[in-house]
Amino acid sequence: MTRTQIINELKLNLDRKRHQAQINADQYVQDLCKNEQFKKLYTNYNQAKIDLIKIKYGGTNDEIISATNNFKQIEQMYNQFIAEHKIDIRKMEPIYECSICNDTGVVNGKMCNCLKTELNKRLNEQNKQYKLATFKDCSKDISPNLHSAYEKAKLWCDKFPNSHILNITFSGSTGTGKTFLLECMASDLIEKGFNVIFVTAFLLNEECRKYHFSLPSKVNEYMDCDVLIIDDLGCEPLLKNITIEYLFNIINLRQKRYKPTLISTNLSSNDILDRYDERIYSRLFNKNLSLNIAFNGIDMRKNF
Ligand SMILES: [Zn+2]
Repeated sequence: MTRTQIINELKLNLDRKRHQAQINADQYVQDLCKNEQFKKLYTNYNQAKIDLIKIKYGGTNDEIISATNNFKQIEQMYNQFIAEHKIDIRKMEPIYECSICNDTGVVNGKMCNCLKTELNKRLNEQNKQYKLATFKDCSKDISPNLHSAYEKAKLWCDKFPNSHILNITFSGSTGTGKTFLLECMASDLIEKGFNVIFVTAFLLNEECRKYHFSLPSKVNEYMDCDVLIIDDLGCEPLLKNITIEYLFNIINLRQKRYKPTLISTNLSSNDILDRYDERIYSRLFNKNLSLNIAFNGIDMRKNF
């Protein structure tokens, strides 16, 4: 399921929930109104309330005073009845699960945290199906060469999202454990409830191509997720006006939004400058914002 499909489904669920809360409140009032005395008080109370508002906006001072007194009198009788009969007035209004957005999923034009949390949960459930490696999988017999990379990766995850490092690049030849360590980072952050997308550079390139030709694609998800992980940068074909342009836009936009992008690649920093361009290079190798770890030739698979 795409992100949009999940959002639509979750919003539909919220609609149902909100509707049900309204039905429950209506039902509660209807049941109360089976008592004739309450029904009369309830009707009078609501009518007096409306009358008072109307008069406040168009009546004379005397009329306002009279309507206010009338309302206070009825309100007192109404409240007395409620107290005597132990009526739960909260139930007379819809009770929403989220008091911030009243189960609309939107607050001040933005997605409410209740919807965001649910969305991340669903997205991460989808991710989990890939069975990513975890930090626990690489606890023993880690070689000193890899120890430092492991420590840095783990520390960054522990700090997330409060690290100034926005771009991380693991470079080195095939089989040195770059992807493995990225998977560990992904599963750690997913476990903590962040929305992480793990994608190969090949697939990312393909989605960018679709986006470029206005076909449905996942490019917006790559822009929006908390952490984007691009595996094996350099394995993708260079498509004219697409590969470099979109890769730059994704990394750049994410950086502007303080969202990290993690990359593994067989390319050296010089290769990256050569194959892509200075704009991409400068973002991935900016000393203040980026962390670059070179994995040496030792085959990490034997060490984990
Ligand atoms: Zn909410």
